[in-house]
Amino acid sequence: MTKIIAIANQKGGVAKTTTTIAKASLIGTRKTCLAVDLDSQANLTDGLGVREINDEQLTAYNLFNPRQNPNSIVVSTPWGIDLIPSDIGLAQKEAELIAEPDSHFILKDQLGKLNQYEYVLLDCPPSLGRLTYSALTAADLILIPVQCQYFSAKGYKQLLNTIQAVQMRSNPSLEILGVLPTMSDTTNISKGALISLSKVEGVTVFDPVPKSVKFTESQLAGIPIDRYIRENHSIKESEEMMERLILPYQTVVERLLALEVVYA
Ligand code: ADP
Ligand code: MG
Repeated sequence: MTKIIAIANQKGGVAKTTTTIAKASLIGTRKTCLAVDLDSQANLTDGLGVREINDEQLTAYNLFNPRQNPNSIVVSTPWGIDLIPSDIGLAQKEAELIAEPDSHFILKDQLGKLNQYEYVLLDCPPSLGRLTYSALTAADLILIPVQCQYFSAKGYKQLLNTIQAVQMRSNPSLEILGVLPTMSDTTNISKGALISLSKVEGVTVFDPVPKSVKFTESQLAGIPIDRYIRENHSIKESEEMMERLILPYQTVVERLLALEVVYA
């Protein structure tokens, strides 16, 4: 059975895309995994090294056409992960979907036709618009990356309210996998964010991902972070970085894979 995970937060720059890439790469070594770029900025597509999309290539825009076979949109990446790419055309889709009643179920139906994958990761755009709503309607689980330096309790509450609305209206089985604090450092602001997050009952807070330029470097190179570290550093350096930068992501992935047993 396919498990669908939305990586969502309406704030931009909190590491949704970074988290999607890191998780997809780690999951992809053990399970079949499809990553879906739901942001018209196409950072996921770019970060997975898919840079030359020809005019004939279908994208996430086409995924929202119920008559389009989603298998014909999938591209493979060098990392053993498949991808539904995005481009700027997806920006227009938001408005088109709003005009159509029940359009938030299209994504769920389309992903149902991609059941050859064990895991599908949905990289959401920085808004609570129709694309994110569609992703939450389709997902089994949501993972919420939160940027430690710019944590907003108000924004977080708004997101939790949206999740609740989706659970009541379109997806009663949506569960929160947890919150992943990102770009943490030793400042009091960062520590304060972790304390605030830990006070919200019933939501798992994963170990924070520390701030490191390696994430941006790897994204610019179009190589998932774990492979980038291994390829560009000595064994000793890479072991240290894997422990510090990848272990928090590995913990999330282990939690996710462990759920399989429960759902089987
Ligand atoms: P979002 O998808 O939420 O908009 P991104 O994943 O694109 O956010 O991340 C925003 C920027 O922050 C990118 O340049 C990314 O490389 C960088 N970044 C992500 N995680 C970290 C981290 N742990 N430390 C430092 N920079 C990071
Ligand atoms: Mg993004």
